[in-house]
This record gives sequence, structure tokens and C-alpha cells, in this order.
Amino acid sequence: MEKYMDLWNKVLDQAENEYETQVFTELFSDCIYNSFKNGYIYILAPNEFAKSRIMKLYIKKIDQFLENVCDENIKIKFVTEADIKKEEPVVVKSTSKSTYSNNLSQNLTFDNFVVGESNNFAFRMAMKIADQPGGFIANPFYIFGSVGLGKTHLMHAVGNYILDVDLTKNILYIKADRFIEDYSKFCKGEFKEYEEKYRTLDVLLIDDIQVLEIGKKSQLEFFKFFDILCSEQKQIIITSDRPAHELKLMERLTSRFTAGLTVDIKTPNLEHRKSILKRKTQELSVEDIDDEVLHYIASNFTSNIRELEGAFVRVKHYCEAFNSPITLEITKEALTGLINNQKINEQHNEKNFVKVQDIVADFYNLTVADLISPKRQANIVLARHIAMYILKTNYGLSYKKIGSLFSGRDHSTVISGCERIENELKLSGDLQMAVSTIMKKL
Ligand code: ADP
Ligand code: MG
Repeated sequence: MEKYMDLWNKVLDQAENEYETQVFTELFSDCIYNSFKNGYIYILAPNEFAKSRIMKLYIKKIDQFLENVCDENIKIKFVTEADIKKEEPVVVKSTSKSTYSNNLSQNLTFDNFVVGESNNFAFRMAMKIADQPGGFIANPFYIFGSVGLGKTHLMHAVGNYILDVDLTKNILYIKADRFIEDYSKFCKGEFKEYEEKYRTLDVLLIDDIQVLEIGKKSQLEFFKFFDILCSEQKQIIITSDRPAHELKLMERLTSRFTAGLTVDIKTPNLEHRKSILKRKTQELSVEDIDDEVLHYIASNFTSNIRELEGAFVRVKHYCEAFNSPITLEITKEALTGLINNQKINEQHNEKNFVKVQDIVADFYNLTVADLISPKRQANIVLARHIAMYILKTNYGLSYKKIGSLFSGRDHSTVISGCERIENELKLSGDLQMAVSTIMKKL
């Protein structure tokens, strides 16, 4: 790096010769060499004013000075302290031990996370953890909720915030399935990279932990890391599509998860969805959008913020394509297809769930009313458990949702029902036959 600092000093000498003393002192004398990255020598300007004057009026000349003393294809970039803070999170700082990317998306921050009733507690606790990472508040910090409700966003926000305060923190955001890939590399002997990546961490952000359900080995390995990181007071943040006790993971993992702090993110209400849309319109520089348009979109996309945002983006493009202002009428037109599809899917799903109950009841000469009743006769209970099991394994419904299809039964009742069938299937040929016949009818 000394080479580049040297080059900068040579550029500075030429600038001093070229410009009047007043200009040189005002703009250049307090500029200092910062770093060399991706073909740019970064120079730290003392303030925004100096930076913008230089970049507007002097940068061409400065690059020429550089060419005079260096024949590599490199350039100079002036930045302020604030710019460096904004830019740094992309790659872990060169002074820290690791060189891997931290995978953080800089645009997912607390700043653009719209808070409402459904995520208020999760948001507050995330801020707290970000203020004091290191397991002081809770380890792990466990965020769960359905798809598209902001879990990943919140997790990145914590990571970005921590780096804003302290650039030397080693943070890694990783999806749990990627973790499994890394683990298999580790098994194949690519040990070094794996070691470096995980052992130097201060904060581990692990997204969608439910995918660990598929592999016992990765669970074990994850448990080992989890243990080490916890004992070294490294902060762990986990997201999942369900609460820890519903995960089919090793008991020692789930019990450690529940020992931390769990927060959930629920579906936002109408007003909250409108605020999120409003925020999105600002991000996309769409001005003056009518409340009735926001209301229409927010009323029709209720359960997933990604889809809500997607709907708005579609409206925007639609209006641009037809050169029209965003009115309620054209919004309806733009979204007809999406909304119809959504309705069909919902109807289709609900129909399928009822069909499962129908077919199972029929198979055991019962009625659906028996199935969802509180009756405890052995044959009814068996049929009920089979229906629950199929809804879980075939349709991936949450235990809560299944419970709601059986007169609001508690999720723990559903879990034990599903587990019972899973266990008995291993032992009973009759049961295997019954389930496979029912599945064929579906
Ligand atoms: P999840 O991980 O729960 O599936 P994401 O975090 O990926 O959901 O969120 C989906 C999309 O919705 C992202 O674009 C995210 O930025 C946006 N989003 C979610 N919650 C909010 C919120 N409260 N405010 C603003 N945008 C949000
Ligand atoms: Mg996610």
C-alpha cells in the first residue's frame, strides 16, 4: 500500500505547483491517503465541500497528475468519512482477520423497515441486539414468521447497524442451506476456508434455519459452532418459518434456540401495509400517489410484503408502459391477473385441505364432523391423526393452520398427532397401506 501512498504524495506535489496557494490549502492540503481498492486510490477529503469541489472541478487534472507518475490504469477517488462508512459493509474491512464477503445487503436497514403492530416488538429487540451484540441481551436472537414478512430484512438491518458502529466486526450472513454446503466442503477436506470463515466471526446471521431439518450431520456441526460462538459471547441471530419447538431438529438445538430470545413477525394490518407501500413509492421516486390506489393494492395483497411490493412495482411499470398516471382504474387493470391467480390459489388450497379430511373420513367410514369433533374413540383419533399428518407432509401447512382446520386444536396436539403417525408408519404395514391408499385418492 505504500506504493499508492507514495503516488498520492507525488500527485499532491504537482497540485501544489499548479494551483494557487489559497486553493491548494483550502482543498488539498488536508486530504489524506486512505486505501487502494479495485483500481482506485481512495483519498479522504476533510469534508463534503472539499470533496465535491475537487470532484467537479479538479478531478480530471488530478488523474492527469497521476498518469504523469504511474502507467498503471488506476484512478483517484475522493471520499469523506461518511462515504467510507456507507461503502465498507460490502467487504469486511481489510484490517480484520477475514477476507470473505459478509453477504450483507446494504439497502436492508432499520431506516427503511416500516414499523407497525405486527413487527414492533421484533424491531425493538433487534435494535437492542444491534446496540449490544455479543449475547448480552440474548443468544440466540430468534426471529420467526411466515414468508415475506421481513425476517431477512430485519436480520440484515442488525448486521448493517453493527458495522456502522464498528467496522472491524466480523459479520457473516448466510442462508442455512449454504451452511450445509460449506459443511460438506469441510467433510471433503477443504478445511481451511471453512475454519477461517466461521471461527473468526463476531456475529453470525443464519437465515431460514428450518432447512437444517434435512440433515442430522449438519445439525451436529451447527450445534458445535453454535456452542463455540455462544461460549465466546459471539452474537447469533436466527430466522425461521416457525417457532423453535416446531422444528424437527435435534432436541439439544431446539432447546438452545428456545433459551434465547424469540420474537415473531405477524402479518401487517391494512394501515401498516399502506405505510409500507408509501415508503416503497418514495424509494422508487413515485410522487403524489392517491390514497385510494394504495388502499386498493394493500387490500388485495395481505399476507406477504414481497408480493405487496411486487404488485406496486407492476402497477408502476404498467402505467409507464401505457404512459398513464397511476389512477385507481389503471391499477385495477394492471393487477387483475395477479389478483385472480391469488384467488384461484387460495380456493384451490382450501378445497384441497377439505378434500384431505373428506377422503380420510370416508376411508374410515366416518364423517368430517367426526374428524373435527372432540370425540376420543380410537378409530376417530387415528383417522384424525392421519389427516393431520397428510396435511403436514403433503401440503406443508403449519401446525397452527392444521389446528385451525380441526376446530382450533392447539399446535402441540397437532404435533403429537403427526409424530404418532410418523412413528407408527415405521412399524405398521397396515398403516402404510392405509396412508398410501388415501394418498392415491388425493
Ligand atoms: P422474509 O425473510 O420474512 O421472507 P423479507 O425480509 O425477505 O421476508 O421481506 C420481503 C420483502 O419485503 C423485502 O423486500 C423487504 O425489504 C420487504 N419488507 C418486509 N418487511 C418490511 C417492513 N416492515 N418495511 C419495509 N419493507 C419490508
Ligand atoms: Mg427470508
